[in-house]
Amino acid sequence: MVHFIGAGPGGADLITVRGARLLGEADVIIYAGSLVNPALLEYRKADCQVHDSASMTLEQVVEVMAAAEAAGSTTVRLHTGDPSLYGAIREQMDELDRRGISYDVTPGVSSFSGAAAALCAEYTLPDVSQSVIITRMAGRTPVPEGERLRKLAGHGCTMVLFLSTGLLEQVEKELAAGGYPPHTPAAIVYKATWPEERVYRCTVSTLAQTARENHITKTALITIGNFLGEKYERSKLYDPTFTHEFREASR
Ligand code: SAH
Repeated sequence: MVHFIGAGPGGADLITVRGARLLGEADVIIYAGSLVNPALLEYRKADCQVHDSASMTLEQVVEVMAAAEAAGSTTVRLHTGDPSLYGAIREQMDELDRRGISYDVTPGVSSFSGAAAALCAEYTLPDVSQSVIITRMAGRTPVPEGERLRKLAGHGCTMVLFLSTGLLEQVEKELAAGGYPPHTPAAIVYKATWPEERVYRCTVSTLAQTARENHITKTALITIGNFLGEKYERSKLYDPTFTHEFREASR
């Protein structure tokens, strides 16, 4: 059995209770060493075999899983954040299907949630934005044509960019071409929820400069939109003049 587990965004106590339990029971752990906090390995049992997938290929990862399976062992594949986002788990699961090895997935707290927490922000403010676009800038890894950043930017809603910290000059151009005014608030969140977390508030036109000045080149998320601004409407849910399923209007 292979358990794919979301490690959470960094803080070692931000893994789920289920994820921590499965980590503690694993005979073999394969973790994404480039992004997963090694402190999470402290949940492992004494005789557990540990592999860092940072220098491994898909084939090598699956070989380790298959060998563990043949020995009757349980494997945990530990991915950063939530495995459903840029986790490359589909190709592993397809390979396990081909080999008849069973698996399940335990979700994790994604770094985009960790970044909102670091900012003490709400991505979906009434009258400001009710949608969050999670995407990335096309770089060495392409993005489908229909999802070009300038097209998505046209919605003017909250955006969270993964894997784009090294491409901020292009990001700025794309956001401007999509229609975000230059003063639109933005923030760079470095290593959200890690002890070394840092937050830089700026605008869509000062992202590259802010990253440069603070030597941020990776492990950061770019958040964009007026959810970082001052203005919003309060929610209907807690509005005394608004009736809903659980509460009559009191005014
Ligand atoms: N599955 C992960 C994302 C993996 S892609 C998740 O749900 O968070 C790797 C990218 O995620 C990094 O390049 C960076 O953009 C972002 N990232 C991961 N952890 C982060 C953190 N703690 N703080 C800021 N960005 C992070």
